[in-house]
Amino acid sequence: MNQCPYNFARSFGDRHLHFDMPPTPAGQILDRGELHVHMNGAIPAATIREILNDEATELPPDFVIEKDLIRSEPCTSLATYLRPWQVLRLFPRKRENLDRISQAVVASLAGNGVRFVELRSSVLYLATLQRCSVTQALEHLIESTRLATEPYGMRRGLIMTVTRGDYAAVGLATLLQAYRDLGEPDDVVGLDLAGDEEIPYPAELPSLFLAAKEQLGLGITIHAGETGRVDNVRAAVELFGADRIGHGTAASQDPALLELLAARDICIEVCPISNRLTGAVPANQAHPLREFRRCGVPFVICSDNPAIHQRGLADDYAVAMSEGLTADEINQQFATAKRYSFLEDLS
Ligand SMILES: [Zn+2]
Repeated sequence: MNQCPYNFARSFGDRHLHFDMPPTPAGQILDRGELHVHMNGAIPAATIREILNDEATELPPDFVIEKDLIRSEPCTSLATYLRPWQVLRLFPRKRENLDRISQAVVASLAGNGVRFVELRSSVLYLATLQRCSVTQALEHLIESTRLATEPYGMRRGLIMTVTRGDYAAVGLATLLQAYRDLGEPDDVVGLDLAGDEEIPYPAELPSLFLAAKEQLGLGITIHAGETGRVDNVRAAVELFGADRIGHGTAASQDPALLELLAARDICIEVCPISNRLTGAVPANQAHPLREFRRCGVPFVICSDNPAIHQRGLADDYAVAMSEGLTADEINQQFATAKRYSFLEDLS
């Protein structure tokens, strides 16, 4: 019987909800590692407004900033959840606003006790917006996030995100060329595949990911199984050489796949708040993290798009507890994140 520990959907609909199960005593902030966060999903709303004003960005028709930039209630479809990206892909056009974004994102991560982070970005859209080459865009992103994290002593790595679809192989090749042009900097630690899981990808894409892993030493994480596609999780493991899986909620329906994930020590990036908001885990079902734990599949708690949720990683930890994680398991999360991070030599 899958029973939700409490009526999350109803509770989550209340913007003023306060989680009443803090993971640590008041005043104490856990050290945390964040392995699945999209940079443009982590920009505080106030910063977005400032940049939109500064760049005089024209919003799509019918887009209401106060309402459409935030996803705080379960969405009827993934497309509804993704509506904020109609605006998030329109900026930053100015280089200094990229720095503004980096600083705001990193400050909010630091406020959640994050000691190391793997930040995801599609990079290609940055090049288009900033009218520069992809190599320059990647260089700017590296520099900008380095400067933002230094004052906090926060370690950070970048994950370059490729979007599913016909142009995924071209996008990946372009990103890898930029990475090579910059001398394969240590700042870039991995590759990610994201986007609509129903969309097919070019046949050669998995082998290109595998080659990047084997020849360049990049970690591979694949968004898979978020929209119920068990076959995408299996393909991520068997074809793409995934080291980690983003979301992977559908895997809980397939005992053989759970066995495979456990046997290969593949870590699931569990994003509890996101999973409820996107409907990856319906309100009337328990979160599959219990199933992952039962089958020995490793997982880390992550926040995905915290600013869009108007939450932070600390809230995801609290929700993970409400979904069944024990306080001991929460306290183990920092070590687990270190173990499965693509960043090397984490102290
Ligand atoms: Zn994600």
